Amino acid sequence: MAGGFAKDGAVQDQIDATVEDAVKRARSELPAGESMARCSECDNEIPAARRAAVPGVRLCLPCQAERDKQRKAVGGYNRRGSKDSQLR
Ligand SMILES: [Zn+2]
Repeated sequence: MAGGFAKDGAVQDQIDATVEDAVKRARSELPAGESMARCSECDNEIPAARRAAVPGVRLCLPCQAERDKQRKAVGGYNRRGSKDSQLR
């Protein structure tokens, strides 16, 4: 029964890793602390107006837009977005 036991453990490990991953990702995307003067993605300067408007901002506008696009493509949970685009 060692095989079966090991299998269960592997599945549990996978679940743990997924949850941990999701938590890490959520944390990295949460605006926290000070706004950054430079984009953490491309190192371009983030305009002061954007920093003031988005507390804890870490990405410049193009990088943020790119990330939002990717998130929609991967996550697919922004259903309202696709519905709106159909109505337009
Ligand atoms: Zn950037």
